[in-house]
Amino acid sequence: MIRNPTPKVVSLVTSALLSFCIGVFTLIATDFNWSDSILIFVTSLILSYLLIYYALEYFIYRKIKLIYKTIHSLKTQKYNSVNKIFKNSDWDSDPISEVNQEVITWAKDKKDEIDHLKKLADFRKEFIGNVSHELKTPIFNIQGYIHTLIDGALEDPEVNMKFLKKAARSADRLCDLVEDLISISQLEAGELHMEYERFDINALVKDVYEQLEYRSKERGISLTIKDGCNQPFFVYADKYRIRQVIVNLVVNSIKYGKEAGVTTSAYYDMDENILIEISDNGDGIEQEHLPRLFERFYRVDKSRSRDAGGTGLGLAIVKHIIEAHNQVINVRSKVGIGSTFAFTLKKAQPGDKITTFMF
Ligand code: ADP
Repeated sequence: MIRNPTPKVVSLVTSALLSFCIGVFTLIATDFNWSDSILIFVTSLILSYLLIYYALEYFIYRKIKLIYKTIHSLKTQKYNSVNKIFKNSDWDSDPISEVNQEVITWAKDKKDEIDHLKKLADFRKEFIGNVSHELKTPIFNIQGYIHTLIDGALEDPEVNMKFLKKAARSADRLCDLVEDLISISQLEAGELHMEYERFDINALVKDVYEQLEYRSKERGISLTIKDGCNQPFFVYADKYRIRQVIVNLVVNSIKYGKEAGVTTSAYYDMDENILIEISDNGDGIEQEHLPRLFERFYRVDKSRSRDAGGTGLGLAIVKHIIEAHNQVINVRSKVGIGSTFAFTLKKAQPGDKITTFMF
């Protein structure tokens, strides 16, 4: 069997078979007149070959070529390049398998595209559901406190200030949530303005510690730098965004660390990068939660997170920022021992200048 025959081969084989039958028939009919039979054989061979080849080429292969062209133009949406590809194709070699291959690739691309769109649609639905759910609680709280105040509690000096403070706390929570949502949508839409500069990560961590001192004191948590690490470690990154990362990780270590515990930051020189670790000696996180920890709105202990004023978006923002730096972040944790969040940043080089770009 000839594999993937071309139109020429198909025409030749078919016309040869046909002419052979005609030749044999003529030979028998003319009482073995060899010269006439050979002449009829050759004539029918030439004529049938031309006829079959023309019919195949005109009615079948030309149409297959059209399908091929259409698929290509759909795939690339650039008709010029399609024509170029088309002209460059060696059609006589194997047109059917080329079309077959094109259709398979095209169908696969389309299937992947549909799967991706379906996933995005699910993702969007889930996100909208989560956002509405998160917004609902503080809005309902504010509404409740204000109505209670209007209905008379305003005149009651025992509760009016308490209700106002509660309404204010819910309004703050609403603001945090909206700010985090803006950050995450900017990060995901690729509208992030990044400004790389050389800075000392240890100095930045100490600055964040100072900023969060009042919060850590509330829970008696000491914010420390690991022994041997309290010295400059220069990195090349967006300082404002990395500050956001450190604030989120340190705040989490305070929220989920144990009372009177310790938060420790450490830095390790890894040739091209600096590895930064922020650890706490809190309750830790069970292994089954770790793979999903950086997803938006994923919380291990929902009520604890909400009580602590968490939006559930902190770690998703952190991961986006680190990935926007083309770096990685991971977490290790042991229940009862504590958690460590580790991420890398590019080590600063002597010639590094301030660079601004859109991510
Ligand atoms: P949240 O606003 O709820 O803190 P995050 O995205 O910052 O949201 O964190 C997601 C979840 O991961 C938290 O709800 C908490 O359950 C868990 N988590 C984060 N950091 C820690 C930590 N240091 N120790 C224990 N659990 C943590």
